[in-house]
Amino acid sequence: MEDQVCRYLTEKGFDCKTSDFLGKEVVTVSLNISGHEIKLMLIMQDRFLSLPQFRLLEPSKFGRLAHVNIERIEGVELGVVCVNAPDSVSVNFDQPLLLIQDSLDRHVALLESVITDPDWNERELIREFYSNWLFLCNSGQKPLLINFSQPILQRVDVYEPIEKMQYGLHSYYVAHPSDSEISELSEIQFAIRERDRKVAGKAVVIPIDCLKPAPSNTDSVTEWYLHTINSLPDGRLRQLREQFCQWRDNCYWIVFTAITIDNNRTWFAIKLDCDNKKALPLTSEKIVDWRVSPISVRVFNQENVVQRGGGYISLTDKKVAIIGIGSVGSEIAHKLTAAGIRHLHLIDPDIYQIDNLHRHMLPQAYVDMPKSMGMVYQCHAQYPWSDARYSFESIEELPNKYSLGSYDLIVIAIGNPSYERFFKQYLLDSNIDVTTLNCWLEGFGVGGHAVLDISGTDGCLLCAYVDHSSGSRGLQSNLSFIEAGQDVMKSIAGCGNQFINYGAANSAQTAVMASSLAIRYLEGKQTESCKVSWKGDDDDAQAENIKLTHRYYHFKESLKRLPLLDEDCDVCRH
Ligand SMILES: [Zn+2]
Ligand SMILES: [Zn+2]
Repeated sequence: MEDQVCRYLTEKGFDCKTSDFLGKEVVTVSLNISGHEIKLMLIMQDRFLSLPQFRLLEPSKFGRLAHVNIERIEGVELGVVCVNAPDSVSVNFDQPLLLIQDSLDRHVALLESVITDPDWNERELIREFYSNWLFLCNSGQKPLLINFSQPILQRVDVYEPIEKMQYGLHSYYVAHPSDSEISELSEIQFAIRERDRKVAGKAVVIPIDCLKPAPSNTDSVTEWYLHTINSLPDGRLRQLREQFCQWRDNCYWIVFTAITIDNNRTWFAIKLDCDNKKALPLTSEKIVDWRVSPISVRVFNQENVVQRGGGYISLTDKKVAIIGIGSVGSEIAHKLTAAGIRHLHLIDPDIYQIDNLHRHMLPQAYVDMPKSMGMVYQCHAQYPWSDARYSFESIEELPNKYSLGSYDLIVIAIGNPSYERFFKQYLLDSNIDVTTLNCWLEGFGVGGHAVLDISGTDGCLLCAYVDHSSGSRGLQSNLSFIEAGQDVMKSIAGCGNQFINYGAANSAQTAVMASSLAIRYLEGKQTESCKVSWKGDDDDAQAENIKLTHRYYHFKESLKRLPLLDEDCDVCRH
């Protein structure tokens, strides 16, 4: 193979030869870039499933190059050039020769830029500061979690991981300020309060105004540290000496933060360890007693974690009530919290039972607990900034207890049309101006529905209850896919134990549809009342001789938002 590669690249005008590197077959390409002799080495593989990586030989003789990290293999320095395309780029592994040439061209183009344009090189070194820093860190070590993001000179307690913990947030060192907004029930807070997590030392946060490229190897980290401290503005250095060198310790985490390129902020740290307790070392005389190790930092704040998870910071302060925390409501609570909504109010007096296990979000440990309470614990346990709370009222009791107009949205997932219409009538009679989202699913997997009633826009929940044969209010929703008046309940254990036949995939489908609509509304993208349905298959209904509606058979608009207004609605007709 290497001969073939060598021949192919030679044909394309490259100067190549094959040889052996530490027992492996390699192809070496010699080039000249602006008077610099460059040698790139490709270690052959049986197949290339990602872009083949050439190593730059004798990388140090070019000075510090952006996108070139230095690795040492058995004492030999090699430059790892980062031309790597992301995983999502599909590589043509059936044509290895073309792939190798494509990769070589990318290596050459990148090296040309970093060697011939020192300004660009410097900017790129700053841009990729953090990845260069990571390269210096011990890869087996977990990053220091920091639960704050104010780039100011400050001192924060660092907590030890819980002993023998390998997984979870418990297993990290965490710099955790006492005024953190993280939920009291999240792992981090819980471990500090209940499990007596110990303070390991102090982190001193130092903002840097003018960031220099990361050191090229671990030997120069101490020098880099002293240089960085000495380059701080006078006022900050004085403050550091006066306020942060007044206690003695045998370890410190120095957390640095700086703006890199395009206003991006980076965080990284140095851990200082000493056999004796001493003040924070800021000079070359003081640092000699200390071991200096570069450490990676993971900023664990709401903005960062929510956005990385595809949530929306704009939803943080929205207030949403969910009435009914059954199979649909629990999924909605989960999705809305995931979207970044902190202030959920989950309302349901129902108790979680063994019967619910296969179509609910809650694990077994919550059996016999009220569903609303269990789901609040779940939200807090998974989402650190959740501020969800619960209460146990039934829908009829709500108006007297809460100011319903203060919610940005009320989601109703009780699957009971009588109570839903009653609640709507109450809002109308009391002139309460609040947007509601009713959602429910039908049995046998035929489908589910959501009705978004935005107060002040055309259409209301009762538009979805106009009986089209009489043109007046009906008892059954006109969105229904199952004909009214049939017995759709199943019973395994007799009266009082009846249930509607649907699976978790059906309730989840309904909940995801309703959640997307809720998020869209809360983001301000949905400004008109609307209705949405999803339609499933009818085999199970057929098997049970269940009659389906005209709407079911003609419905082709699954998941599409349709106008809600019905001309015959007595509320909407003026
Ligand atoms: Zn790079
Ligand atoms: Zn209406």
